[in-house]
Amino acid sequence: MPDAYLVKPDREFVREIIDLGGESLKQCFQCATCSISCTLSPDRHPFPRKEMIWAQWGLKDKLIGDPDVWLCHRCGDCNVTCPRSAAPSDVLAAVRDYTIRNYSFPRFMGKALGKPAFLPLLLGIPAVLILAVLAGLGTLNPPPGDVEYGRFFAHLPLQIFFGSFVALMIVACLVGVSRFWKDLNSRISRQSFNQSSTTASTSSVGTGIVGAVKDILTHTKFRDCTENKNRYISHLLTFYGFAGLFLTTIAVVISEYVFHYYPLPLFHPLKIFGNVSTLAMLVGVTWIIYERARKQRDTEISTYNDWTFIWILYAVIITGIVTEILRFVNIASVAYPVYFVHLVVVFALLIYLPFSRFAHMVYRTVALVHARYSGREEAVESAEQ
Ligand code: SF4
Ligand code: SF4
Repeated sequence: MPDAYLVKPDREFVREIIDLGGESLKQCFQCATCSISCTLSPDRHPFPRKEMIWAQWGLKDKLIGDPDVWLCHRCGDCNVTCPRSAAPSDVLAAVRDYTIRNYSFPRFMGKALGKPAFLPLLLGIPAVLILAVLAGLGTLNPPPGDVEYGRFFAHLPLQIFFGSFVALMIVACLVGVSRFWKDLNSRISRQSFNQSSTTASTSSVGTGIVGAVKDILTHTKFRDCTENKNRYISHLLTFYGFAGLFLTTIAVVISEYVFHYYPLPLFHPLKIFGNVSTLAMLVGVTWIIYERARKQRDTEISTYNDWTFIWILYAVIITGIVTEILRFVNIASVAYPVYFVHLVVVFALLIYLPFSRFAHMVYRTVALVHARYSGREEAVESAEQ
């Protein structure tokens, strides 16, 4: 028999998908109810039924770089309708985690982020690095007086420290994403999405970017969920809260270095904008935690990767709020240690982005761009009409 007709299962891959949360994948008996109930699945080559059999058979090459894995927005509708409790939503989430690990640069970081045993080390590294910089600056013991975080970790060294690691993080992201894009492209030659009578032709990458950004800004895909409808609002709050804080940080740096206007008064519009963004994130993430804890016993399994990302994000928000309050109430003995913890968790959130659940945001954006570029998204849209 020619090699092309032989199925070559990768048992190690199946084991890893099970470990990453796809433990019920073997219960699937290919009835296709999940593909019918999925509002995001196109008529031509629908998902997630085909991904379920690929996962069962250990067809790693078919799943890695499968754009449909990323068109799934984990609404959980298919988990509810599956008559075998095979949890296709969780299996696809596990495949996404595996995909990120597979494309990670350096690869060992992708593996380390997924293992609880490495968590103390991953938090210990930024703690030691920050302590070393503070020791070098001679501010491990900040001078007595009013709480002023700039006297603990001076602004310029702080920005150089984080800026250097952010630059490395961006390089790691670009390497991983370019590997992913290459594999997505190889799919176009193997499987044309444009032959359906209901689909249109491919578009340019630029048009794909505009369409994907529009999808992300409006969270339209989350709105189509039935089972987890609330997730639309909690994700929207978290997303815009994070974006607001990101813009505030950039604006404050510009204010300090370009206009030499720093510190900002309490009721400065930028401060108000930053505080409203923090509040939006707090509400959004608290809501996500509540919903996940509720569903954990019910229709959806949240894995170690899910919880680690959510709790680190939550730790960033809480320590950020407490840091600000402690500056106002001026309790130096607690304020500086809390600020130190805040910096450690900010590092863990931002610098480990290419290897954590946070990377989903980047990979999904790339997959959405590619889906439009390849015409796959048009197939989804025409199926929705
Ligand atoms: S995952 Fe469930 S609904 Fe989907 S094909 Fe398998 S058994 Fe059917
Ligand atoms: S989780 Fe939702 S979007 Fe993903 S395959 Fe299932 S029904 Fe479709």
